[in-house]
Amino acid sequence: MITNADLEGHFLHLCAANEIQISWCKRPSKALAISGEFELVRVPHIRSPTAYAIALHELGHIKGRNQYNKNQIVRERWAWEWARRNAVLYDRRFVRKIALLLGTQPAAPHCTLPDGQALYQER
Ligand SMILES: [Zn+2]
Repeated sequence: MITNADLEGHFLHLCAANEIQISWCKRPSKALAISGEFELVRVPHIRSPTAYAIALHELGHIKGRNQYNKNQIVRERWAWEWARRNAVLYDRRFVRKIALLLGTQPAAPHCTLPDGQALYQER
């Protein structure tokens, strides 16, 4: 049986292994990822499989493929793909729901910073 503590432990491990800083927030809607020379994910503490999926999705915005693609749908899909491949617990139907909740379907307002850094803020 995988506990929420195990899931958070796995997330912490992934961040440490990839030298990605963590900033905790209260709401999933405040989740974001910053990539470039300084890499950071801001996510809620992992107290549910939902929070775990969100956290891995944000990491996917840094570690996943195609994150500099101009098409936001492509970036979102590959961030979820990275989450799927790296998660110790992943339920496809469940993640679809989360993706919809986060507004990561087409038309979510993500922004890109100048100087090559990409910043993704989930709605
Ligand atoms: Zn996203």
